[in-house]
Amino acid sequence: MNHCDTTSLLSYDEALTQLTDAITALASPVDKALLETLGAVLAESIESAIDVPTCAMSSMDGYAINTADLATSGVTTLPLSQRIAAGSAADALVTGTAARIFTGAPVPEGADAVIMQEQVDAVDHQIRFDARPASGSNIRPPGNDIRRGTTILNKGCRLRPQDIGLAASVGLQTLPVFSAIKVGMFFTGDELVEPGQALVAGKIYDSNRYTLHGLLESMGCEIIDLGLVGDTLAATRDAMLRASTQADLVVTSGGVSVGEEDHVRIAIEQLGELRLWRLGIKPGKPLAYGQINDTAFIGLPGNPVSVFATFCLFVCPVIRIMQGCGWRKPVALPVKADFDWSRPDSRREFLRARLVTTKDNQTLVQIHPNQDSGVLTSTVWADGFVEIPENQTVQAGEMVNYLPFAQFF
Ligand code: AMP
Ligand code: MG
Repeated sequence: MNHCDTTSLLSYDEALTQLTDAITALASPVDKALLETLGAVLAESIESAIDVPTCAMSSMDGYAINTADLATSGVTTLPLSQRIAAGSAADALVTGTAARIFTGAPVPEGADAVIMQEQVDAVDHQIRFDARPASGSNIRPPGNDIRRGTTILNKGCRLRPQDIGLAASVGLQTLPVFSAIKVGMFFTGDELVEPGQALVAGKIYDSNRYTLHGLLESMGCEIIDLGLVGDTLAATRDAMLRASTQADLVVTSGGVSVGEEDHVRIAIEQLGELRLWRLGIKPGKPLAYGQINDTAFIGLPGNPVSVFATFCLFVCPVIRIMQGCGWRKPVALPVKADFDWSRPDSRREFLRARLVTTKDNQTLVQIHPNQDSGVLTSTVWADGFVEIPENQTVQAGEMVNYLPFAQFF
């Protein structure tokens, strides 16, 4: 039986559309040294000014030859006329000779194949072989990897190690990237104390600050951390005002329900515009969204699991759009369930889950046994969400949609 009043719940898709429609890219371009660009968003598409490689290169240790010099049948014998190591320049190949050559060395003009050293008998400055390599064998032609003038990286991509390596391979020392967006954060709750302090009766340690810090850092944001804020309207208003004057986006945890100790909602109403959503998702029913002057605001629920989940589902898209890389909904992987889910809920559920491989090499997805939104352990145990649509049950063996955490941030 479902006791939840679902009449005014906003669906996940609708909330996401409303939220992301209101956000625009706001980062500005700066040039950064290549080694400082990991995770940054590229501000312009990049074209290569050179061919890579710039000339024909050997892809093997062996001997450069001209296939026109091969014996018509049987063994070919060729004298050696030069030695070309990687990093040196080559002379043109003398007709009727071979050149000793190494991986990454330039292929001499006049040679059209490299024969592997394993296929050759080399004695007294000459080589003998019966292989008949085709023209072009073991040679990387100029532009084999990149042709001059082609786009190698697209504006809006988030730079990964291999992207930075590719930029280096065309000789770039710097890249134009968007500056980091500034995210202000604070955490409400009189029950909260920081790790390191004594845990007196009624108090709990603040964990949301640390989870959010890590999430924002891994997304490449500049963090303005205002720390803990007590449950009073004055303190909440003051923190909200300070955060909003410094940041592009303010993210808070707790205090967005409609209880008398929940002041975030009223603070935003007084300082700017607020939309308070009751979302049709689990975890994370209350979510506040608003604006103070030009600064966007997202008020997450207080429960640690809800913070993690709503950050993935709503804050990540907002940040990615602000950063200039846009947002694509994560691609769900269809995986066989290794669990039963017999309690249908009118809200869409994002269960903490992880993939396992069975002895017979099947991939299955398991869910954490305790899906309570206060059980932070479940997010550590898990590596993704299973998304269960509204009002559905699942039986072991059925396919479900799995969303790896890594796709969000
Ligand atoms: P609230 O949304 O303020 O009603 O908080 C919901 C639940 O989350 C309560 O049990 C709070 O104690 C808990 N909570 C709120 N903020 C934090 C935090 N920063 N770290 C850990 N738990 C929190
Ligand atoms: Mg609270």
